[in-house]
Amino acid sequence: MMKSTLLRFFAISGVAVAVTGCVSDQKAAQVKLEQQAVLGLNWVQQSGEYQALAYQAFNTARRAFDAAKAQNGHKKAVIVDLDETMIDNSAYAAWRVEHGVPYTKPTWARWMEAKQATAIDGAVSFARYVNSYGGRMFYISNRDDTSYAATVENLQKLGFPGVSRETVLLRTTQSNKQARFDRVKSKGYDVVVYIGDNLNDFGTACYGKNNRERRLQVAAQQKQFGSKFIMLPNPNYGDWISGMATDYYKQTPVRQLEINRENLRVWKD
Ligand SMILES: [Mg+2]
Repeated sequence: MMKSTLLRFFAISGVAVAVTGCVSDQKAAQVKLEQQAVLGLNWVQQSGEYQALAYQAFNTARRAFDAAKAQNGHKKAVIVDLDETMIDNSAYAAWRVEHGVPYTKPTWARWMEAKQATAIDGAVSFARYVNSYGGRMFYISNRDDTSYAATVENLQKLGFPGVSRETVLLRTTQSNKQARFDRVKSKGYDVVVYIGDNLNDFGTACYGKNNRERRLQVAAQQKQFGSKFIMLPNPNYGDWISGMATDYYKQTPVRQLEINRENLRVWKD
């Protein structure tokens, strides 16, 4: 009796040690995953090169907007994404690096409520230009609609024009933005330019696809980049990450680190 109780105790404590070890491995892997963002965040926050690309995007967008003719009496519209397209949330990502924690809905909600996103260079003046020269800006973002009030306040504080229930369309049920794009069109607008940091900001073709399929789609639409579609760089996150493996975000941090490494094309010297 004594012996079997003792055995059971050791068996249970062995399991406990294994589980604890596993948890701390995962925690260490999560810290590493967040650390992988550091150089990208340094680049976004510090480099003139990132800043130059942002100006380049909005200068190109302005020329594309000017050159576009709206179809049969429709009014010209420009559809933009918000996060990492018009506004910069890199301080939230940097906070995650500092704490070694992943994206979570509650911490992201706290960040949005703090209204500390900054404007990306060139974004505000581009938006004002469109609204002043015969167009209308629509801000279509996958921020949850519960963050509407905070998001609008943040945008207004930064000087973005024409921010209202009609023009700021956040996510209610679907992440796929196509239904919201169609809503803008159904109101008599011709969408002449789309601006985003994620291929899904331009339509449904890449939604839920892996990176190989996404690249093929981009190649097929190559002529539209710089005229109808304007891309901002985002080295920190996007659907290109989940495009590296099936169910990427359902994997453990240890596995996610492996996937990131497996996706490198490596010099075989
Ligand atoms: Mg975005």
